[in-house]
Amino acid sequence: MVSLTFYGGANEIGGNKILLEDKDARIYLDFGESFDFGEDFFYEYLQPRNANGLEVYFEFNLMPKVQKLYSEKMVKLTELKYEKPDIDAVFISHSHSDHVNHLSFIDESIPVYIGHGTQRILEIYHKLYPTLVDIGEHKTMNLFKSGDKIKIKHLIIEPIHVEHSIPGAYGFIVHTSKGAIVYSGDLRLHGPQSKMTDEFVEAAAKAKPYALLMEGTRMGSESEHNHTEEEVEEKVEKIIKESKGIVFAYFSMSNIDRFMSFYRASVKNKKKLVIDTKFAYILDNLKDKIPVLPDVMTDKNISVYFRIGKSGEYQEKDYKVYERKFMPKIITHDEVEANQRNIVMHMGFNKLMELVYIQPKDADYIYSSSEHFLEGEENEAERTVLENWMKHFGVKFHKAHCSGHASRKDLEHIVKTINPKILIPIHTQRAEDFKGFHVNVKIPEKGKTMEI
Ligand SMILES: [Zn+2]
Ligand SMILES: [Zn+2]
Repeated sequence: MVSLTFYGGANEIGGNKILLEDKDARIYLDFGESFDFGEDFFYEYLQPRNANGLEVYFEFNLMPKVQKLYSEKMVKLTELKYEKPDIDAVFISHSHSDHVNHLSFIDESIPVYIGHGTQRILEIYHKLYPTLVDIGEHKTMNLFKSGDKIKIKHLIIEPIHVEHSIPGAYGFIVHTSKGAIVYSGDLRLHGPQSKMTDEFVEAAAKAKPYALLMEGTRMGSESEHNHTEEEVEEKVEKIIKESKGIVFAYFSMSNIDRFMSFYRASVKNKKKLVIDTKFAYILDNLKDKIPVLPDVMTDKNISVYFRIGKSGEYQEKDYKVYERKFMPKIITHDEVEANQRNIVMHMGFNKLMELVYIQPKDADYIYSSSEHFLEGEENEAERTVLENWMKHFGVKFHKAHCSGHASRKDLEHIVKTINPKILIPIHTQRAEDFKGFHVNVKIPEKGKTMEI
């Protein structure tokens, strides 16, 4: 008998934390944080301190009260008694917070299995945002690549790469005593690396799986057009071409496909792409993993924006050690202001202050990230501030984005191709809808165990 316990990722988008038990083997598939984690009880500076460990989270039922899982430090003030863990491994599908963020709570002796790219991305982000991205200490971090076969007691786990909105994403095929159980992770089929997802789907189908745990983020997308990354690039290229001034752009720095779309669209229009030092650090540290990435240090199409330093000038000592490497590629606000028509500049919300120095004329702004920010009620205040800045500087606003998740049509194709005996929808708020694709859908419930 194999059992699955859904501590997260059931009837919610994200927060995957799924315990798979088979005989004496116990592994977790992802250990993430839900997107709405703690929002009912914490607010701005009202946040639990690290020293509290898990006590505060247990108080509000935000973390599962499970023995033999958490570190001694984390359970110290709680009703749980620390015991040596009985978990054989935690497998991480990719580096998004809703899949990794709670790793910092688990006992450091539990082996963590993680893709080599995911490990690198987490390392880079931890360096740049030490408190925001912190997976904690782990004695054993085993790096895997696509096609590896990992033995955990009698289980064999095969990670296979998939395409998603961040590099280094995987799905897993877990060979159990009951047959193969497939875990999709997060994936899509409409980007430049879609053949990776095809390979995963093909391998999963070949395993003739007993169960498929399938993400369904966009199960409700039937009415919308499924924009591809190629279409995003075309749109961006057109906006840049027609712009009479500087083009600002916002997209997630970890979305490398999107970076490449903007890079190519800029180069085709003979514009310089300007990024900040953090972005430069990310690209510079990923280039040995992702060969298509341009070299920030030598590529003439890229310049690195330095904010004016404390000294009022641009002196090395004004900047962090990691930033100094990029000084040969510096572009200042004066230079940006003087060359507005020749520049595409990455511009996050928190960097808008630079507009005061750049004084944009006839500028365009391309918002190229999750629609969530533009639609959700909870972002209204932030959105209004952004709109006020756009109005103040007369900046024209555009949207160009496509999702990191498969459309409903692609989900149907994936489910039908893999053709499992049981279909278990995860990472979705539309689990019931999967019944349209499959005759044997089992809907998981948060905190509950499902025997299969
Ligand atoms: Zn996710
Ligand atoms: Zn994801």
